[in-house]
Amino acid sequence: MDKYIDRKINQAILRYNMIEPGDKVAVAVSGGKDSLTMAYFLSRKANSAYHIDFGMQAVHVRTDFDNSVEKSGFDKFLKDEGIPLTVIDVPVLKRLKPGRKMNCYWCSSQRRMELMKFASESGCNKIALGHHMDDILETFFMNMAYKGEMSTMLPVMKFDHYEQTLIRPLALVKEREIIDFADRMGLSKIACTCGFDTQSKRREMRSAIEFMAEKDEKIRDNLFEALHHPVPRYMINQETD
Ligand code: SF4
Repeated sequence: MDKYIDRKINQAILRYNMIEPGDKVAVAVSGGKDSLTMAYFLSRKANSAYHIDFGMQAVHVRTDFDNSVEKSGFDKFLKDEGIPLTVIDVPVLKRLKPGRKMNCYWCSSQRRMELMKFASESGCNKIALGHHMDDILETFFMNMAYKGEMSTMLPVMKFDHYEQTLIRPLALVKEREIIDFADRMGLSKIACTCGFDTQSKRREMRSAIEFMAEKDEKIRDNLFEALHHPVPRYMINQETD
């Protein structure tokens, strides 16, 4: 087992109080390297003498236009690891209102809704998503560049109107570390791609972050840590300025 990734997931669990004793976690698996890596490590913890006693099961939301994940054979990987899998079919395209175009926001929100429903019906109080540190940073820069706000995906996200909590156990793991692990494990590297992909802005932000961290990888860590340490004294406050 890759001790480095395992340690980083442990740190995230403790730092953000992500998993608590008695939790039942629905682990969302797309079939790509990130979610399979997450499922692998969480399963090892759930089925060992880990200091937090919790349960988990995997769930895959299959859309009506993308079956590439089946081709990767990820269900066999999960079976070999002893991870129970539920597949939910969601007609994302068919749900589009007339005249509306398919896009990643709609697709993701429909799949997220089904995940919440599944978690609720199966007694899971947490839903684990496979976003890693680079996803969180890219979202931060995207929200600044295109929304004019400082916000990002949270490692732990509670909702006012849902009892489930979203968690991101890979929050402290970098994408290249996952790629290394996936290569060693022979995991599929298929990404969430289809003819409707509208994530070009995310790719632009990814390049910008790569450029910033090109000479010193520590910059990526510092950017991520900065999300935890806003200094109010040096932030512009509209009410007083
Ligand atoms: S790339 Fe395709 S499958 Fe992935 S979120 Fe966008 S629309 Fe959905």
